Amino acid sequence: MNFSFTEEQKSVRKVVRAFVDREIIPYIKEWDEKVHFEENILKRLADLQLMGVCIPEEYGGVGMDYNTLAIVCEELERGDTAFRTAVSVHTGLNSMTLLQWGTEEQKQKYLVPQATGEKIGAFGLTEPNAGSDVVAMETTAVKAGDHYILNGSKTWISLCDVADHFLIFAKTDTKAKHHGISCFIVERTFEGLSTKAIKGKMGIRAGNTGEVFLDNVKVPAENLLGYEGEGFKIAMSALDNGRFTVAAGACGTIMASLEASVKYCEERKTFGKEIGKHQLVQQMIAKMSANLEISRLLVYKAGELKNNGKRNTQETSLAKWISCDAAYEAANDAVQVHGAYGFSNEFPVERYLRNAKAPVIYEGTREIHTIMQAEYALGYREDKTLRKMLPAWPFAESLVRG
Ligand SMILES: Cc1cc2nc3c(=O)[nH]c(=O)nc-3n(C[C@H](O)[C@H](O)[C@H](O)COP(=O)(O)OP(=O)(O)OC[C@H]3O[C@@H](n4cnc5c(N)ncnc54)[C@H](O)[C@@H]3O)c2cc1C
Repeated sequence: MNFSFTEEQKSVRKVVRAFVDREIIPYIKEWDEKVHFEENILKRLADLQLMGVCIPEEYGGVGMDYNTLAIVCEELERGDTAFRTAVSVHTGLNSMTLLQWGTEEQKQKYLVPQATGEKIGAFGLTEPNAGSDVVAMETTAVKAGDHYILNGSKTWISLCDVADHFLIFAKTDTKAKHHGISCFIVERTFEGLSTKAIKGKMGIRAGNTGEVFLDNVKVPAENLLGYEGEGFKIAMSALDNGRFTVAAGACGTIMASLEASVKYCEERKTFGKEIGKHQLVQQMIAKMSANLEISRLLVYKAGELKNNGKRNTQETSLAKWISCDAAYEAANDAVQVHGAYGFSNEFPVERYLRNAKAPVIYEGTREIHTIMQAEYALGYREDKTLRKMLPAWPFAESLVRG
């Protein structure tokens, strides 16, 4: 185990932090209030080569490791969840899925311009009647000669109004459940595709989220990703990457909540002393500090497994669950530390709290990750990691099924 960062990782953190301090933090309050997604930030991230962090150079990326991607997400979310969400979706859910499942032609056509940030990718899995229960999706794809016809709708799709390419999941066999779902690369310009932003969001107001409508959209057969019926597997592998970036981002919210709270502790006095000197306030600060460390350790452990090509669904799910819950708690406590001032947008902490709710819901709700962790512990899931522990833990065999 290695707990130190490389010089390259330290320098990436420095660059992203400076970018966030200069180009996001001074404007974010206004963008959030106006419910404005500042697209130019994506272009600036592309200039900084941050739209293809883990994508190999041969496909237009910079070929850095997963924990460097984590650092980018952490630092971006320290500014606002909206831009980390954009990187999670564009890179984690879309580009890395193209890298894993795409043909050489698909990679050249779609991945290369995405990795450079010239084109933006989105991920369309959720539907009005299918969120956690992915298999309940109703969007269909019917083969007709050398193309498929897609009909249906997707909702809560991040970057829906700005994406050039979508990964759209649809049923090619409505009776085959998990095995009946397929994944398609769909371009915004394909006739019959339209999008509409969702209004009235509680948080991530500086982000773009909305609906995607598919009305007889003709998709060339060569835009099928993987084989017919592999869509569920593709979606789950995409989530392994997406969840990792969400977990890393949550560390950024904890960091921002801690920074704001420490600053306020120095400024605010009650009963003749700084509020940081009151033990119950210290308890909230201590919890934020401890949770930042715990969340980072879980994220970097999952990142290390990914760097070594090891299966990491369990570790990534744990990192996502724990860090997103911790971020929500940290933001909530940051509001508490600020007292009534925390309840107004004079301070950023109320935005942190509103933003921190979404990651507890998307990319697997808290309940879905709780169930996953229970199933791993109970041995209800095939788990190669547990098998590897066998020599050290003789009773583990009885917990492993399958
Ligand atoms: C800001 C934002 C951005 C998003 N971006 C995207 C995106 O880019 N692409 C995309 O495809 N989706 C996106 N989503 C959608 C998100 O992934 C879904 O909202 C999420 O999967 C949950 O689905 P749902 O909202 O339909 O809730 P449901 O699945 O209907 O769940 C409702 C409640 O029931 C609980 N529940 C459900 N099943 C169980 C169970 N078996 N046991 C116990 N409890 C259960 C859930 O935990 C939750 O509390 C986004 C959502 C948000 C809020």
